[in-house]
This record gives sequence, C-alpha cells and structure tokens, in this order.
Amino acid sequence: MSSLRAVKGMNDVLPEDIGRWRRVERAFWDTVARYGYGEVRTPIVEPTELFVRGIGEVTDIVEKEMYTFVDKGEHSLTMRPEGTASAVRAYLQHSVGARSPVTKWAYLGPMFRRERPARGRYRQFWQAGVEVFGDPGPFVDAEMIDMIVGLLAELGVEDLEVLVNCLGTGDTRARYLEALVAYLTPRASELSADSQRRLTTNPLRVLDSKAPQDQAVVAEAPEILAYLADEDRGHFDLLQETLTALGTPFRVEARLVRGLDYYDRTLFEIRGRGGELGAQNTLCGGGRYDGLVEQLGGSATPGIGFAMGLERIMLAMSGDDAPPAPDAFVVVTSPEQRTDAATLLKALRGAGIAADADLRGGSTKSQFRRADKSGAAVAIVIGPDEAKAGTAQVKDLRRGEQREVARAEVAAEVRRIGEAE
Ligand code: AMP
Repeated sequence: MSSLRAVKGMNDVLPEDIGRWRRVERAFWDTVARYGYGEVRTPIVEPTELFVRGIGEVTDIVEKEMYTFVDKGEHSLTMRPEGTASAVRAYLQHSVGARSPVTKWAYLGPMFRRERPARGRYRQFWQAGVEVFGDPGPFVDAEMIDMIVGLLAELGVEDLEVLVNCLGTGDTRARYLEALVAYLTPRASELSADSQRRLTTNPLRVLDSKAPQDQAVVAEAPEILAYLADEDRGHFDLLQETLTALGTPFRVEARLVRGLDYYDRTLFEIRGRGGELGAQNTLCGGGRYDGLVEQLGGSATPGIGFAMGLERIMLAMSGDDAPPAPDAFVVVTSPEQRTDAATLLKALRGAGIAADADLRGGSTKSQFRRADKSGAAVAIVIGPDEAKAGTAQVKDLRRGEQREVARAEVAAEVRRIGEAE
C-alpha cells in the first residue's frame, strides 16, 4: 500500500494547511458578492468538442495538455482545463441571455492540464474566476482588473505588475496577422518545430511560445497596437483612462497574447514578484471574448472574464493562517464520565460551539495535553461530582481561571470566555 501515491502534479491539502485556502476562498467570495456576481457550478467533465471549439484546436492546452478519455467506447470527454468554455456552454444551454441583458457569474474549482509539474504549476490546480456576458466594456473591463488588484491586496499580495493589451477585433486582427506572417515567414527556420507548424495553422500562438529560440524572434515582431482600428483604439484608450481614474497602476504590454484563442480586444495578466513565487509568477489572466458565445452557437454576445490560480496566490501571500481550533475541549476525570461527555459535546455543538474531546480512556493529564495542543481556549472538566450536581468546571486555558457552572450555562460561559479573548 505504501507505494500508492497521488497522481504526479496533483496535490492533497491537509487540515493543517486549510486555513490559507479558506482565507483565499472567503476573500474571493466576499469580493465578488460585493461586485454583483452569482456563483455558477458546472461539471468537471465536458464533451471534448467544447474545449476544442472554445479554446482553439491549435493551442498548447488542446494539442498537448487535456485529460481526455472515451466514456464506455461512446463519447470523448475531457476534464475541464479552464472555466470559460463551460460557463459559455451553460449560459447557452439555459438561455440565460434571453432572461437578462447582462449576466455576472463567478466560479471556483479544480482544473486539469497535463503540464510539466513545477513549483506553482500542477496538473490539478484550483482556479477562481468570473465571467460577464452582455457588456461590451470597457468600464467593466477596468472594474474587473481593479477588483482583482483589490482582492490580492486584501490577501497581502502587493508587489504586483498589471499588464494590459488590446488584441483588436476582426479587421484589426486580419491586418495584424498578415504583417505578423510576413515578418515570421522569412525567419521560419529560426523557429521551433511547433512554431513553424503554427505559422501556417495559428500564427498568433507563435507569440506566446515558451521556447527560447521563438522568444528571440518574437522580440522583434510587429506589435498589434500599431494595427488597431479606430473602435479598438477608442476602447483601449477608455480602458486605460478608467484604470487610471480607479488608481490601478498598469503597464501596456503590446506582445501579451496568452495561450487561448478566444480572446479579443482587452487582454490582461497580473504577475507577482514577492513571496515564494518562482518562475510561475502569473497569478491571474483574463480578457475579452466577444466572439466566443456566437462561435459556440449563440447569438452575438460580448463577454469578458478572468481566472486566478489559487496555489500561486497562496505562494505569494503573506500572513499566518493557524488551522481552525475548537472553542472548547471536554476533559473527563474518570472513564465512567465518557457517556456524559458525549451528551455534553452534542449539546455544545448543537448550541453552535466547536467542541472536541479525547474519549479513548487516557489519563486526565493526557487529555489536558490534547486540549492544549488543539488550541482550544476553554477546557470543560466533568467528573462524578459534577455529574451528580448537574454542573461542569469551565476553565479558561489562557488565564488559568476556573468556574463551576450549571450544565445549561456551559455554552454561554464558553462564549463569554471566547469573546473576552
Ligand atoms: P489561464 O487559464 O491559462 O489563463 O491561467 C490563469 C491562471 O491560472 C494562471 O495565471 C495561473 O495562476 C493559474 N494556472 C494556470 N495553469 C496552471 C497550472 N498548471 N498550475 C497552477 N496554476 C495554473
């Protein structure tokens, strides 16, 4: 049995580490609720076709990284590598657009990509993200970026770099692609095999190649911002103005493209510089996907979203997160009192108090050691005398004070001590 281990790149989270996870999750849900997002939960497995059509056939995710299997010899299914395609599918399947002109969804859950595992890069990782359908921006774009920066600051992730770009729409893109291909074609022999192939199938993907020889060529490539049509330019200018008005520092990065095909117009990425982050320092990525809903079978509907990787955020976060401790620990001075303890524990928990005990039959001293280790602020001691009198000794473990109170008063006394902390 000892050789059974979790799948490479997939991690367990143990109770001693859960405090930090809970803090991130709570901050995320509190923040998005204030901005008007409702939670959406979609299946972890979807038809493979959704991601092929949504993310794009010639992308690293679809070509190399998906966990795909055939379900009982019938359907090709894939473990979701990201959240946007599923959200669009659900939005269309439930005709959400017909019910309200603007829809704001948030999600949090595990995603799966067969990447090479490293610090901050896993094969199962957690993303929290949002999607807005029906609003063409750019104010919602700026608000979203500002919201994420605020959330990260609240979590103690402060040394940030916000990069923004505009990928344009149809016309802009066509003119830019022509220029990009004209630049790359004579240099094709310097590119990696993947990029040589993508030069004909999906030239934009050459720009986000991680291969060093590609990056050298890309560094001199034409920039999309020089090709923006007037409407795209106006959108991008207004985005920058609004970000400035909101007080969010950013930098325009004209070669930012990110690895998914559905993006157009606004594109952004937030990188961290502090904490234990190593090379995997992209905390969050997002952008506009005004063509995706239509491409997946709906009517033309603008959309924008982002996703952040929870593990990376936690690597960049500051502050301690002690695992949650019980409010009270029940100690029995003789083994005969254990049934009595069981009923007292039930009553305390029923009254909303987190209570624990060690009823294996050990000495009073060893039970007190467990009480201390648990981090509980209060010990509740019961023995034959207390059972007869219908009372319990309630001991404030921080101050060492002890009081005997009636059983009906125990919960209130535990609360009083907890509040005095
Ligand atoms: P993407 O969906 O590729 O735009 O990624 C959005 C964010 O998810 C990234 O900025 C990371 O924080 C996180 N992320 C993406 N891939 C991984 C991975 N393999 N392991 C851990 N986090 C990831």
